[in-house]
Amino acid sequence: MPAMLDMIDLDYPETTCHLPLLNTQCTVRCLTVGATSKIRTSATFGHTMINSINELIYRCIVQKPDGMFEDFNLFRKQLPTRDRDALLYSILEASESLEQVFPITCPQCGRTFDVKLKLDDCFDAVLYDGEPGSILDVEEEVVLNLTKATVKFYLKVPTLDRERRVLLHVGQRNIDPQILTMLLTIDRVEVYRKDSEEMEGVIRNIDFDQLETLCNRLRLKQQKLITDHYRDTLGKYGVSLKFTFSCPDNACGYIEKDMPIDLMQWFFRAISE
Ligand SMILES: [Zn+2]
Repeated sequence: MPAMLDMIDLDYPETTCHLPLLNTQCTVRCLTVGATSKIRTSATFGHTMINSINELIYRCIVQKPDGMFEDFNLFRKQLPTRDRDALLYSILEASESLEQVFPITCPQCGRTFDVKLKLDDCFDAVLYDGEPGSILDVEEEVVLNLTKATVKFYLKVPTLDRERRVLLHVGQRNIDPQILTMLLTIDRVEVYRKDSEEMEGVIRNIDFDQLETLCNRLRLKQQKLITDHYRDTLGKYGVSLKFTFSCPDNACGYIEKDMPIDLMQWFFRAISE
């Protein structure tokens, strides 16, 4: 009776995932062939590919956090990009894909080696300890005091939706990763005339052209002030995957204690095996 095939309980393994930024929990299940084949066979990259991955992740959530992610649109608006890493990690865990031979390029000699890695040995996470979901409303302020004006940058954690808008704005261009980080994390910019409380202008988070022009015009030191501030505050939360790399080539002998692993790259290899 082929009709019965749909109904067979294939008993998907599940695991609990703690979302470090939203500070809440959900349950995810393993990947299936059907769910991943769209990505495996897809020839597109950029925001279309990222959207397919976001959809895949959303479908793997068996139990949502209380009052969150009621549909895919809300999921994109409510999930910080760094929490996607936590979901992806847990989905890989449920799929028994935390171990693989992974290519690592030595930063010193430039050679690439296949290294056997276990992600659970590399796992570390910094958790936000506020109310569940409250991180979405947290703003960090960076003030630049210029001769004629005061410029206030307000920074927020980017969500999947923010990322999608930024990637649509960037399109096929090659963009400086520093500019990309700023476009993702700057929520708005307020400009005040010196010696006055009066606001002269505001750049909102959807005014991408203006925001990018302003970012490009910043002095290196000013840009560093903004990106360092983000990194040390909101940017510290989330999952990180690092291991100690020692170059197998004895003549090189390079050792790096905190070599990061790209989780997206790991995911693509896991579903292509
Ligand atoms: Zn080396």
